[in-house]
Amino acid sequence: MRQITIAIDGYSSCGKSTLARELAHELGYAYIDTGAMYRAVTLYCLEKGIIEKGRAVDAFKVIKELLHIKIEFRYSDNSGKSETYLNGKNVEGEIRGMEVSELVSPVSAIHEVRKMMVYLQRQLAKDGGVVMDGRDIGTTVFPHAELKLFMTADINVRVERRKQELLSKGIAVKDSEIKRNLQRRDEEDSTRAISPLKQAPDAVLLDNTKITREEQLKIALRWAKERIVNSAPER
Ligand code: C5P
Repeated sequence: MRQITIAIDGYSSCGKSTLARELAHELGYAYIDTGAMYRAVTLYCLEKGIIEKGRAVDAFKVIKELLHIKIEFRYSDNSGKSETYLNGKNVEGEIRGMEVSELVSPVSAIHEVRKMMVYLQRQLAKDGGVVMDGRDIGTTVFPHAELKLFMTADINVRVERRKQELLSKGIAVKDSEIKRNLQRRDEEDSTRAISPLKQAPDAVLLDNTKITREEQLKIALRWAKERIVNSAPER
């Protein structure tokens, strides 16, 4: 059967990765979490002391380090998921913490960082049959993706989801702090000069405030199957 590319964009903590992972599993596709890649770059810069909380990000210093950053995804039998590696080290836990979340948006706004990540993302997806989630997948990375979803949900629902995600990793953060972080990232991601977060004109809007995980998967799978059937046959 013909394999398509599925691009999922949307606001922070809308459940993009949950849906992307489940869709990929159902279709036998690869799943690529592009947020993890920007998070890994941010973690590298934090560890090197190039950036720190409360100080403006110096783009020049970040750019100088880019060639020393190697990001990979490796499947873990333990978690049953693909996990993020930074220069050979598993950083899946560290990249999800608040320290990285606080600085990832300004790092992601740097043109050279985006250029490198987009190049890697296209490389990772070159064989097709991929579900990729992020902020600019349907607009910049794969403007010709056969299916584009733009996800949103009520902010309080998103705060609760993010809180549970952090708790499952043993990290307790106040609701107000999570809310501030989500709102700030959404604002910064939507207003940056390069590849801002926005709904592509041909993306389908999916608001999952009032639907369950199972329902959203069912809806998205239906759309995906329609696109697979209707997309041009392989040459
Ligand atoms: O998806 P996640 O919340 O992990 O993404 C973290 C951050 O990475 C976003 O807030 C955004 O600043 C950046 N990002 C991006 N472009 C993408 C994916 C993520 O700028 N395609």
